[in-house]
Amino acid sequence: MITDEQFIAAYNYAFDLTVNACFRQRMAAVVLNSNGKIIASGVNEYTPHWYMCVENGYRKDQTGAHCELAAIRNYCKAHNISDKDPVKFFSKCKKQDFNTIVVVRRKGGLYSLIRGNSKPCLACQGFLKKVGIKYMVYYDEKTNHFVKERVN
Ligand SMILES: [Zn+2]
Repeated sequence: MITDEQFIAAYNYAFDLTVNACFRQRMAAVVLNSNGKIIASGVNEYTPHWYMCVENGYRKDQTGAHCELAAIRNYCKAHNISDKDPVKFFSKCKKQDFNTIVVVRRKGGLYSLIRGNSKPCLACQGFLKKVGIKYMVYYDEKTNHFVKERVN
């Protein structure tokens, strides 16, 4: 169970991280375990990610790593989980206590405090499901609310 305080802390942490993002879309993701503790984080990166290809639902012009993929990659590096064999990789990931991913986007430049839409793209949602993340939290500009949804 993730408390409101834990969510706010995770959101602030992620929003601060967006300054490190490589893309013009400054996005960051943090992963919380079932106790609400931050266990991974990542930003949009130029370093290509093996999952980010057309076969997995990404557009041809999408290169690098979306922040959701980067967060899991950082976690796996820190925990010696190899991604050489995708089947083993996903089964190992499923055994981790990945619970919720909070995704944020800073709009309007480095010093802006404006939040932008941050719903994970469909292709990343597929990845999140495969690694066993249960919930995603993102910001919706239309309603000016954070949305929590089951990953499915
Ligand atoms: Zn994505």
